[in-house]
Amino acid sequence: MQWRFAAIALLMLAGFAQASQESATSSAVGSEHVATEIRDRELSFLAYSAPDDAAIVKDNSASISRAYRVLVDSVGVDAGTVNWAEIAFTRDENYMPPRDKAGVARWAVPLTATGTLGTAGVKSLFLTIPHEQVHAIQKAFGELPRWFSEGMAEWAGLRATKLVAPDLYVDEKQQLDAALQSATAPPNLKSWGGVKPKPEAIFKQLTPEQKQRMVQEPGYFPPGPFTFGPDDFISDESNTPARYAASLRIFEEVESRSSLQAMHVWFKAVRDLPSPKATSDIVRLAEEATGVDISGMVD
Ligand SMILES: [Zn+2]
Repeated sequence: MQWRFAAIALLMLAGFAQASQESATSSAVGSEHVATEIRDRELSFLAYSAPDDAAIVKDNSASISRAYRVLVDSVGVDAGTVNWAEIAFTRDENYMPPRDKAGVARWAVPLTATGTLGTAGVKSLFLTIPHEQVHAIQKAFGELPRWFSEGMAEWAGLRATKLVAPDLYVDEKQQLDAALQSATAPPNLKSWGGVKPKPEAIFKQLTPEQKQRMVQEPGYFPPGPFTFGPDDFISDESNTPARYAASLRIFEEVESRSSLQAMHVWFKAVRDLPSPKATSDIVRLAEEATGVDISGMVD
């Protein structure tokens, strides 16, 4: 199947205001949330909140910066080159980030009714967002196989979580291990994210006789050929929790048997591959850069 998802166009967020972390600037955006630019040397990103919740942004900005620094140190990129996703601290359970800047994601950090960072807020800020910010870093990497993009996001994200929220790290690792142990099928990482046609896209191309037979015989699959448009596909999401765990395990294995410097050489080589990047090339480059053979782990 030749059709691939189109890469999301990435628009650079231009024109950051200059401000130190101590005197962060705010500007009105939308009806009630205001943006604060958090700047820590070359690292800078936008955090939104209602004016009443500005203190929680300030209170957490140092921890967020520490987490983001772990991400760039893990992946081996300069913090100043990353187009970080925005974050929004909000008490509004129905908060919908605006979509006015194409390619710039904004992740919500839910606050309690009294404006504190409850369990859900801590999990979002120190577990989910570090993972998602690795995907922001990967926008400069080109088109990666799903196991590589998610494995790197889990690995680097959890390295950050371990530093800023150690209890959350332990819980998440236990859940990932349990997902792997309870999986009923092998993770088959090579085909994760592969697209397959929606059943209705096939069904609409069948003869009346074939349709009737498909309804009557569950094991019957009509012969093609079929033609498909971009809206006719779904990705195969079976076995997803175990696949995250198995992808993470690859990066942990390489780290335990080589070094962060060797991993950076691997990541740079992957980045330099033409897109879409093939699993076979990434596996070969892992062995060249780190000496670790991961071929048996991607099956
Ligand atoms: Zn992800």
